[in-house]
Amino acid sequence: MKWIGLTGGIASGKSTVARLLESLGCAVVDADQISHQVTRYGELGYEKIVSQFGKEILNDNQDLDRKKLAEIVFADQAKRQKLEGLLHPLIQDRVLEQKKNYQIEQRELCFYDIPLLFEKKLQSQFDFVVTVWCEPEVQLHRLMRRNSLTMELALQRIETQMPFADKISRSLYCIDNSGSEESLIQIVSNWLKKI
Ligand code: ADP
Repeated sequence: MKWIGLTGGIASGKSTVARLLESLGCAVVDADQISHQVTRYGELGYEKIVSQFGKEILNDNQDLDRKKLAEIVFADQAKRQKLEGLLHPLIQDRVLEQKKNYQIEQRELCFYDIPLLFEKKLQSQFDFVVTVWCEPEVQLHRLMRRNSLTMELALQRIETQMPFADKISRSLYCIDNSGSEESLIQIVSNWLKKI
């Protein structure tokens, strides 16, 4: 089984590409989805975050207030690194478990959708890496719309990440998602035939 890193910038379209790949029969492991699972009420990640960031980080239902947590960590690099350090080992265990299951199923291609692949220097773990990118102004507007953010907050989040050009130069393949979803479907299905 080929183990392929799928990365890009925030709101560049990784999850959209991951869903397309799944619909085309590929196996996908989703780091964001696993991160949500390990931080659900009562899970170990939830407990760790509450002891680190306090009960102010919970909403009235005692669930994590993810928007509030994101606002805190994107404004403070030390807190962001602390959060990543807390969650990384928990996420990694589940990733390896899912990867093993796909190996048992003898899947040909398995993509790991992970936003910070290069920032965390994980590239050597993969057979190869594909970066999903788009024009910066398209990224900014998609991020503002998806997360209901002001331009200032959206730019702050984009600036915490490595620029697209650096990610692209370190990847074997890249997918341009500046166009419509219809054109993305064509791009992804044609690309899949080549790899
Ligand atoms: P990522 O996983 O990289 O953060 P998403 O796949 O969630 O990014 O895409 C960011 C936002 O942009 C989502 O709201 C998604 O629906 C939208 N989007 C993604 N690709 C396109 C596209 N080609 N055309 C229009 N909107 C798109």
